[in-house]
Amino acid sequence: MLLANENQDNGNGVYPVAISFDMSTHLTPEQIAELRSDLEAELRRLQRSMTSTATASEPVALDQASVGRLSRMDAMANQQMAKTLHERELALELRILDALRRVDGGSYGVCLTCGHNIPYGRLLVMPETRTCTACGGG
Ligand SMILES: [Zn+2]
Repeated sequence: MLLANENQDNGNGVYPVAISFDMSTHLTPEQIAELRSDLEAELRRLQRSMTSTATASEPVALDQASVGRLSRMDAMANQQMAKTLHERELALELRILDALRRVDGGSYGVCLTCGHNIPYGRLLVMPETRTCTACGGG
């Protein structure tokens, strides 16, 4: 499930459940603007970080005679960690880009699972979230 990370990211999950059932966005233009700039800032930060992890996850030259058995295992473990981190960053990047598309399309802030509004407080913590507190499991 792609949503697994999203669940883990939510540390406290104490946001009130949305009461409004209005299907149009419940966010004010100011709130939308703030969340959009949060998303764009997070995207820039992520893309800077991804440049370095992409480099770190490039295949290591494992057959070099100068590389001993232990350091070779270290290199493989580090590479695996960098690869895992990079995959997580790629998934988050997709979620942020998706959220920005929904901001542009006017459907941002609405749960993709149940169609209810996602509370502003939850969006502030996880602007890239696609689900409300109930559907997100957190
Ligand atoms: Zn929902």
